[in-house]
Amino acid sequence: MDLFARLGLRRVINAAGKMTYLGASAVEPEVVQALADAAQGYVEMDRLMDRAGEFVAQAAGAEAGMVTSCAAAGIAIGVAATITGTNLTRVHQVPWVETSRRKVVIQRGHAIDFGAPILQMIRLAGGEPVEVGSVNATKRTELEGALGEEVAAVLYAVSHHAVQDGMLPLPEVVDAAQAAGIPVVVDAAAEVDLQKFIATGADLVVYSGHKAIGGPTSGLIAGRSPLIAACRMQNQGIGRTMKIGKEGIIGLLAALERYQHQGADGMGESTRALADSLVLALQGVPGLTVRAVKDGTRPIWRAQLHLGPEAKMTARALIGHLEAGDPVIKTRNHEADSGVINLDTRTITIEQVPLLALAIRDALVKEAAGRA
Ligand SMILES: *Cc1c(COP(=O)(O)O)cnc(C)c1O
Repeated sequence: MDLFARLGLRRVINAAGKMTYLGASAVEPEVVQALADAAQGYVEMDRLMDRAGEFVAQAAGAEAGMVTSCAAAGIAIGVAATITGTNLTRVHQVPWVETSRRKVVIQRGHAIDFGAPILQMIRLAGGEPVEVGSVNATKRTELEGALGEEVAAVLYAVSHHAVQDGMLPLPEVVDAAQAAGIPVVVDAAAEVDLQKFIATGADLVVYSGHKAIGGPTSGLIAGRSPLIAACRMQNQGIGRTMKIGKEGIIGLLAALERYQHQGADGMGESTRALADSLVLALQGVPGLTVRAVKDGTRPIWRAQLHLGPEAKMTARALIGHLEAGDPVIKTRNHEADSGVINLDTRTITIEQVPLLALAIRDALVKEAAGRA
């Protein structure tokens, strides 16, 4: 971490989660070792890509797989594959492919911005986004009505960014798309379960390597063999602008291996223990109640802070205090306007628990004293 300090950057205690703006994931020592070893050698890249693809396929329970530089790249490459197939001329034409089959259908409530608009990934790939339904509801007939001759793919986003209520669930989308002979590409960038969406019938699924899996900056695509072959071919086209190096690939494989052994239950247990110790360390602060809460869909436990009227400080003000210090403390703030701050436990260590608790106590108690 001295590297960051030498550049004049503040230290960060990350209780926000696996956020791109904080560097996504801090990798485990065995992943560091794999990265370092790979960076120092030479390898036949095509064969490395083949082996990595097999590894990804096995992890996802899919026919085939591929490693990419990130999930956003995976979405663009996956969509491009549905438009070009394995026709090299078309691969070279992306994003202006000479074909009438280039529409990409997406539910309006899935047209998210994950730091960049998902619709732009479609356009980058040569697709023409077609949004169906309304912001808060899609009817099956609306989806079916859009699935014509000119449609290359349906893109489905699984994310807390997406509208949840009123959207067609994946099994229904797969059902409708299969009936029309159109592949479904799933953006599951931050999801924990590597097999669920393939098992549901998705043709391609995209994940970030640096989110749940805990790898270096990277991504992966798993899915049907012909489509993955078309994905691989994009490396001779737009994929070249999204290149991942040997060290990134090897680092991701090391993280993937570790992730498979740990399993989702392992993550549940370790995050529960950290959340409990945060709850304990934050007892007895006037106006503050803390409890451990589980993520809506994933086996992740967090410490949830409620600032009551007695707290003499709003959640926003507390966030401001925590972000002004050195180390900077970053928290999950999307419920801050209701007086709630969440502390993510995937990205902190047990050693950081007392530091974190002390900073929160100090801010609340000093502020209270200052105003008394
Ligand atoms: C994070 C995220 C992305 C982008 O992932 P990167 O690997 O950072 O490119 C795309 N979609 C969703 C739903 C995400 O959460």
